[in-house]
Amino acid sequence: MQTNLTQRFKEGRSADAIESILRSCVHCGFCNATCPTYQLLGDELDGPRGRIYQMKQYFEGAPANKELQHHLDRCLTCRSCETTCPSGVNYSRLLEIGREAIEDDLPRSMPQRGLRWGITWFLNSGWIFKLSIQITQNLRWLLPNKITASIPQLKPKIAAVTAQHERQVLMLSGCVQPALAPNTNAAAKQLLHRLGLGVIEINQNNCCGAVGMHTSQIEQGKAQARRLIDVWWPKIESGVEAIVFTATGCGVSIKDYGNIFKDEPGYAQKGQTISDLALDLSEIVAKEMAGQNITINQPINSSSTGPKRVAFHTPCTMQHALGLKNVVEKILISAGYHLCQVADSHLCCGSAGTYSILQPEISTQLQTNKQAALTIDSPEVIATANIGCQLQIGRGAEVPVVHWIELVNDVL
Ligand code: SF4
Ligand code: SF4
Repeated sequence: MQTNLTQRFKEGRSADAIESILRSCVHCGFCNATCPTYQLLGDELDGPRGRIYQMKQYFEGAPANKELQHHLDRCLTCRSCETTCPSGVNYSRLLEIGREAIEDDLPRSMPQRGLRWGITWFLNSGWIFKLSIQITQNLRWLLPNKITASIPQLKPKIAAVTAQHERQVLMLSGCVQPALAPNTNAAAKQLLHRLGLGVIEINQNNCCGAVGMHTSQIEQGKAQARRLIDVWWPKIESGVEAIVFTATGCGVSIKDYGNIFKDEPGYAQKGQTISDLALDLSEIVAKEMAGQNITINQPINSSSTGPKRVAFHTPCTMQHALGLKNVVEKILISAGYHLCQVADSHLCCGSAGTYSILQPEISTQLQTNKQAALTIDSPEVIATANIGCQLQIGRGAEVPVVHWIELVNDVL
């Protein structure tokens, strides 16, 4: 595609990226076929090809306007289009550049800014968020379903691991997961312990920065990421083997630190080191299992009374952004679970960071479709790998939704 960028974008630090991404798109439209918003809305402007075209016009001098912002806001950043694109167009990078520039040109209204600020503040408020979740869980019977539906039921706590190991990894605790699904990291620590790895988790309610970035508060997101880097750095220098994340949404953000901070003295090298060390939990579990020749491949112990039929929802961040396909599925099969059929596994569940709050109508439609797609083969449990998807699919679901590590830790 020919480009003719305005002086502002030609001279900007993202000029090369804009040029090369726009030029790599050949307008074939294959990406529209797997785009959830195009499928739902049927509007070219709400598909990847149309969004690329609208951004091209903007980078070439068309003024930023509400309509452009509206169509970009409706994008889930699920990156399904990138997986489909035969030309390797880096759509998400173009979107990131476009959104940031448009945000500067077209400041949002006070209520919109207030909403975004409020979401970020609440999700990162630490004890206030935790207390709100605990109150909701304990007074569930008193509160309207609208409030309680997204909040997981209280579960018995998984015991903490106290054993020490010579080999150590860092684990991201995250901002909302400790309050909403504390058993995820607890189960991960138990299993890694049995595989010979000690886990260091620094519980300081450190958000990776993704929430700020999802709510168009880029600088705030970067400040959170820097804080996390500072907290982790002494442990990294002392020689941890990896940084493990148990929520793929956070993982994508951490994996991008090298890119986010590449021009920032003091953080460029640290950011890249962290990106290089970051591993999804499934990657390290699969690696350690293979290294220790653990292949069970037999049915769950007959004394197990737990569920055996599992439908796995692969988060977009896992399959499209991190490029991890079939890793968890193989672990689940190794642990003796039966994997149920799932329809449209490439499509987003509608969680997409803060999308479910900012675009509730599209998000709810995607959630309904996803619940139906995950239950076509009558699973006893649905497993996933990201807290956002877990909450989104679990809202009003008839089948329990858990993190896959809870299932594997139960039997392996
Ligand atoms: S992004 Fe890729 S799939 Fe979509 S129109 Fe451009 S080249 Fe085709
Ligand atoms: S990121 Fe997802 S929603 Fe956005 S254009 Fe690509 S496929 Fe569509």
